[in-house]
Amino acid sequence: MALAALALERDRAWLFAHGDHRLNAAKRQRLDALLQRRINGEPVAYLAGRREFFGREFIVSPAVLIPRPETEHLIEFALTLDLPDDARVADIGTGSGCIALTLAAERPGWRCTGSDISQKALAIAARNRQALDLARVELLHGDGLQPLASNDFDLIVSNPPYVAEGDPHLERGDLVHEPTIALTPGGDGLAVLRRLITEAPARLSPGGWLALEHGHDQAASVRHLFECQAYADVRSICDLAGIERITVGRIA
Ligand code: GLN
Repeated sequence: MALAALALERDRAWLFAHGDHRLNAAKRQRLDALLQRRINGEPVAYLAGRREFFGREFIVSPAVLIPRPETEHLIEFALTLDLPDDARVADIGTGSGCIALTLAAERPGWRCTGSDISQKALAIAARNRQALDLARVELLHGDGLQPLASNDFDLIVSNPPYVAEGDPHLERGDLVHEPTIALTPGGDGLAVLRRLITEAPARLSPGGWLALEHGHDQAASVRHLFECQAYADVRSICDLAGIERITVGRIA
């Protein structure tokens, strides 16, 4: 149904209402090509070139991770915070830009920056910035926190690569087609999380928050890493499956 909708450039409601519609040769060829790519395992989001996140549509390509529902908890957490109207917010490893752009759309006063080490990912983020009419969001190229120009962030968020090396999930489903650089830092999967937790205090204002997504079995390790640094109010937040998926802490 999703692929038929794509091939016909119609929505699902139209397909339900036109069950007797006959495909012309061009549309049939298009549908066959999409089916073949899907059979080869290409994610529907890449075939469609888009995926919804927090109620908005984002352009995606194989250069970026496909936005996932569990990442919406980072947004929900950020929106519970009582930050200044003109809060400075950074999203590290922004990929499609879904976190930085959603926060900017939800909180028009916030000054949001997204950074990524991948130029190809930044090009997608820039297209999304334009499509969502959010020119005020800054997009920077570089590794981790390095490209950030200031040290007074009220909130730093990230959905970094965190899958451990050799995790069988990397060999399954959509992950096979997603950029490895966005999925795994190798080893135990904690390297980028560890670096963000260690380096963020120098970039946060007093009282500023760090909020990180992590793997289903990493919450205790991540809380420990926070607690080894100058963070207070460290806690983990569960996703809809009841898995501790996000850990947050505040600079005391
Ligand atoms: N949540 C993703 C998965 O396990 C991984 C994304 C990431 O590493 N940030 O499918």
